[in-house]
Amino acid sequence: MQEPSQPRKQSGLRAPDAPSVPWHALLPEAVLEQLSSTQQGLTEEAARERLARHGPNVMERSRPDSAWKLLWRQIDSPLIWVLIASAALAILLGKVTDGLVVAAVVVLNTLIGFVQEYRAGRAIEALNHMVPETAQVLRDGHLVSRPAAELVPGDVVQLASGDRVPADLRLLRSRNFQVEEAALTGESVPSSKHVAAVAVAAELGDRASLAFGGTLVTSGTSTAVVVATGGATELGRISHLMEQAVDLSTPLTRELARLGRIISAGIVVLSAVLLGVGMFRGYAFSDAVLVAITLAVAAIPEGLPAIVTIALAIGVQRMALRRAVIRKLPAVETLGSTTVICTDKTGTLTRNEMTVQALWTRRGHYTLTGVGHSPLGELLHAGRALEVPPEDVRALLVAGVLCNEADLQPREGRWGMTGDPTEGALLFAAKKADLGVMEVRERNPRLDAIPFESEHQYMATLHAGGPEGRELVLKGAPEVVLRRCGPELDRDAVLVEVERMARQGLRVLAFARKGLPGAESLRPEDVEDGFALLGLQGMIDPPREEAVTSVKACHAAGIRVKMMTGDHPGTAEAIGLQLGLHAPGHPGLTGAHLSSMSDAELAVAVKDTNVFARLAPEHKLRLVRALQAQRHVVAMTGDGVNDAPALKQANIGVAMGITGTAVSREAADLVLTDDNFATIVAAVEEGRRVYDNLVKSLAFVLPTNLGLALILMLGVTFFPLQEAGGVREPLLAMRPTQLLWINLVATVTLALPLAFEAKERHVMRRPPRAPDTPVLSHFVVMRTGLVALLMAAGAIGLFLWEYARQGGGQEASNVLALAEARTMAVNTVVSFQIFYLWMCRTLTGSTREVGFASNPTVFVGIAALVLLQAAFMYVPFFQRLFGSAPLSLGDIARSVLVGACVLPAVGLEKWLRSRPRRREVGRSVSAT
Ligand code: ADP
Ligand code: MG
Repeated sequence: MQEPSQPRKQSGLRAPDAPSVPWHALLPEAVLEQLSSTQQGLTEEAARERLARHGPNVMERSRPDSAWKLLWRQIDSPLIWVLIASAALAILLGKVTDGLVVAAVVVLNTLIGFVQEYRAGRAIEALNHMVPETAQVLRDGHLVSRPAAELVPGDVVQLASGDRVPADLRLLRSRNFQVEEAALTGESVPSSKHVAAVAVAAELGDRASLAFGGTLVTSGTSTAVVVATGGATELGRISHLMEQAVDLSTPLTRELARLGRIISAGIVVLSAVLLGVGMFRGYAFSDAVLVAITLAVAAIPEGLPAIVTIALAIGVQRMALRRAVIRKLPAVETLGSTTVICTDKTGTLTRNEMTVQALWTRRGHYTLTGVGHSPLGELLHAGRALEVPPEDVRALLVAGVLCNEADLQPREGRWGMTGDPTEGALLFAAKKADLGVMEVRERNPRLDAIPFESEHQYMATLHAGGPEGRELVLKGAPEVVLRRCGPELDRDAVLVEVERMARQGLRVLAFARKGLPGAESLRPEDVEDGFALLGLQGMIDPPREEAVTSVKACHAAGIRVKMMTGDHPGTAEAIGLQLGLHAPGHPGLTGAHLSSMSDAELAVAVKDTNVFARLAPEHKLRLVRALQAQRHVVAMTGDGVNDAPALKQANIGVAMGITGTAVSREAADLVLTDDNFATIVAAVEEGRRVYDNLVKSLAFVLPTNLGLALILMLGVTFFPLQEAGGVREPLLAMRPTQLLWINLVATVTLALPLAFEAKERHVMRRPPRAPDTPVLSHFVVMRTGLVALLMAAGAIGLFLWEYARQGGGQEASNVLALAEARTMAVNTVVSFQIFYLWMCRTLTGSTREVGFASNPTVFVGIAALVLLQAAFMYVPFFQRLFGSAPLSLGDIARSVLVGACVLPAVGLEKWLRSRPRRREVGRSVSAT
């Protein structure tokens, strides 16, 4: 327990000079006074001045040890341990140069891996800042939306459910306000907050009058004053204690790590065998060991982990450029195997430029002309313009203005809207009938409100005014509002009207009122019944043009698109039809209907139904599970607080960067910065590309490893020992250091460009990849075998030919002959790689299809390698280190010619493989 005299026992976490005003124990007025602020907040000027004094409201995260951890991760892999052991052993046995070169490779490889992973980590971390956080703050007495980083102590902010608390706050007013403080206390059960002061001694978790920055509002609303920002917040004080390292592992990297362990184990066994063979053939012990070590070095794909990380990071960056921000790295891969996209309608498939077009009251139909967010338009009745709106229409429009959180501002000669576009449309509708939004709101000041939530599908506000002195206005989904109206209403007639409007694709809201004499605040039971219906407003929200093409693209790519909306089924089906995702034979399902189904019934229904309407968040969760039970890989969008469970359950949770809540973004794997359905499809396309490029890199890297191992094993098993320069040496086509040269330098310079390769031409015209497709697919294994055999045959052939030609076998010329013949072998393998790279640029098609120059990094890689290879042959230092020798132009031409063999060979393989149409590329879960 805390001692009262030491209320801040938490201070182990605190800077010593921290201000110790016990904000939680003061009354709101006292807090405001201390901060020289008022209920109306600060002026812009005061805020600017304080910003200069306190600095921006951002948290510095220092991560002193994560760089070391990252470095250790590079070293701590079985592949590297095998290499380190090999280097030590070589040095012990007197092969000092060879040992040092192996050690140098380890160091180089570690550094390359480290730098790349560090940069990739940074790039991914930077994504967190790509979705700007904003706060609703009172400045000069007006509620405005500002970047959270600009908040200062004394600012008065408004919070609603789904928001992230932007700084440490003292509540001034609150309604049913609950906050989840897991970020700070680890406690994931939301705690209730209220205005009343608490004891000075209260612990952090008990300071119910404070909301802490970084925590999440799970329900209710509040107005609160900022007491601390940035590093001075409670979270800011402890943030340096928090492990913030970005997790770069994904199913794929884990699978590759597993593969690495298997390869290493296999290599260790094979090396032992080779040691035995060497001894049996009469090698000196140190030679036999060196050969065994060389095998380890040759067969281990050292460069692979770096290549994979880079490919993923490039994918993440490219997705961000296309407005899809990845929050969890594994999503990059999962996106590529997505089979169903479940998407919101409003704002994602549609433009969210809501415009009220149809009004209905019990006296008749009315029309509003004009399009988009603009007050230009007229009120028509039976085709004739009305100068003054009739009383019934007026009451309907006034209700729309009052029961409304949105606002209009003149902006550069046009009208701008803040808030929910559905509500903005109601304001523009009122302006078309010459009603002043400000006047109406001033005449009937708001006393209390129940905010809109998707589950309840209504919103209610209490106002002063009206015949009874107090007026309660209700708006919401027609069914919900009609249920609360008095018995005198002919519900069925109204519902027919609703249905008629919905069938035209209109989003329909119903409005009702009742008097509530004497009320000062709203209780839940006040909104249960006794309302009088005012009428209906129907608004269009046209589909986004790009959504139509994207839906088509999905269907071509074997991905199903299912619309999940809170809207009326009629509206949803009409929009679905326009988008080409609704099959009229399979009527939409509503949430209520869904609730009455068993899991088995749902499993059947979910297959062919593409439109789900009047859904509440819990229905979304059930639908995700039903789809996953059928082995679907589900991408699901969500924007509300209560969508978080469905977002977490989905294979890819997709949140909205503009209209979504902070809570939903926190739960998501992917955030769309433009809220656009087409962006999900772009991300899927990128995901497929990333995976393709990884396969390309594998198909490129592995043959070289196998080829080098073959060269070595064949040499040890079949080639004689030679006397050269006074030592008996095994006649191997390459020395260990030369193998390393190829394996690391050549492979990395050439494989990296593949991560930048453009998408395959048919990338969105084939079914999704099954998520359990092994990394070492049939295709990669076959290709590796084919190219490795070619490579080994070419290199050994040219080696032997050159050796014989230079007089190898006669003692006097052996040293030089060996050096030249080996250089020839190295050169041949490198030529093979350069030509093979072109064949790897596309998995199925021809290089001409992808475009010869479409990936400039390929040229950079090749140019770099050619220069390095020239140095390998002609620079004395390299000659000494690697035992290489200069080759004549004729020799180079011969090795290049042999290397070019890979073109017709792989060309033939591709042709054969493409004949049974693309069987390899992926088994489909759902062929559409
Ligand atoms: P969606 O975003 O999928 O269209 P919502 O859950 O936002 O679904 O809305 C469901 C229904 O609730 C709408 O069809 C409409 O009738 C009603 N509704 C939407 N927004 C509001 C609002 N701000 N106030 C009252 N009712 C609303
Ligand atoms: Mg909505």
